[in-house]
Amino acid sequence: MGKADYYDVLGVSKNASEEDIKKAYRRMAVKYHPDKNPGDKVAEEKFKEVAEAYEVLRDSDKRAAYDRYGHSAFEQRGAQSSGWGSGGHDPFDIFRDVFGGSGFDDLFGFGRRSSSSGSRKEAGSDLRYNLKITLEEAFQGTEKTIKYSKHAACPKCNGSGAAPGSKKVSCKTCGGTGIFSMRQGFFSMQQTCPDCHGVGTKIETPCHNCGGTGRVMESCTTKVKIPAGIFDGANLRMKSMGEAGTNGGPSGDLYVAIYVIEDKRFERHENDLYCVQKIPFITAALGGEIEVETIDGQANLKIPAGTQSETMFRVKGRGMPDLNRPGTRGNQYVKISIDVPTKLSREQKEKLQEFGKLCNMKSDGFFQRFKEKFESL
Ligand SMILES: [Zn+2]
Ligand SMILES: [Zn+2]
Repeated sequence: MGKADYYDVLGVSKNASEEDIKKAYRRMAVKYHPDKNPGDKVAEEKFKEVAEAYEVLRDSDKRAAYDRYGHSAFEQRGAQSSGWGSGGHDPFDIFRDVFGGSGFDDLFGFGRRSSSSGSRKEAGSDLRYNLKITLEEAFQGTEKTIKYSKHAACPKCNGSGAAPGSKKVSCKTCGGTGIFSMRQGFFSMQQTCPDCHGVGTKIETPCHNCGGTGRVMESCTTKVKIPAGIFDGANLRMKSMGEAGTNGGPSGDLYVAIYVIEDKRFERHENDLYCVQKIPFITAALGGEIEVETIDGQANLKIPAGTQSETMFRVKGRGMPDLNRPGTRGNQYVKISIDVPTKLSREQKEKLQEFGKLCNMKSDGFFQRFKEKFESL
């Protein structure tokens, strides 16, 4: 029998765990994937072989049958002739199962359609850039220079993926139909050709610069204008600044996601700013005027006599600018925290004790009046 042992194909031992088998498969599938080895027939065969071995060894029933009877366990199913594995599955489907939908593109850095051979017009992907700014920058508005990398059209082949002078040839796997048919027992199954991804043509000689993908990584620098009043979590769309499309498809957009760094002094809600201001307990009791810090300088705030802790005062129009209504601003809210002195001189202490005595008398008087009123009811 010319067929290699499934365990040998995946490079695992006979008693390998399910997890080991999955890991081994991942490693091999990435190594031999056609997108990574454009035009390499040996790699392609290896990829199918690896998928076939995994298809059997991942399934405990099939694996048990294989352990007992070897390859002959599956021969009567008639799948051998197809060369697509005992289960008759598309190796790419297993591949996607293991890596998950998006993992596939992540691994290779480009969409499947845009790989080696396609001639289909595809829009480029959108990109996201996370940009941190301070609250002051959000207040004033700013301009930032950002650097990022993206897939751009390959300059050597103008994004076609074909080497100079190379032309497109009909795909041999599907005979140019883009559909791959196989027989399995009584059934005939059809699927998108895994070789040309349904396009029907392949590039004879892939471009050396981009490996036939038509795209190369490029680093870019661009300026982002951030309007005053921008919110944390806002997305600024920069049209056509994302990844290049394939085969003349339009470029994607670049989204700049704004993160406003938490400020030590102010908390923001909508366009209003909130802060806590400590005031001496004397000021709280007698009243007075204090200076409070705002996002743009100082402001005066009147404290009425008898102000309690946690009281909230409004400084009108000193909040953040309104993004949608230029010229208008939110308010600043100041929460009062009463500062109780921790170190007192002897004289201060005496005066306060004296004050305390006065208070007691007062409250006794109050209590007396309350008692009289209560008893009269
Ligand atoms: Zn190229
Ligand atoms: Zn094909």
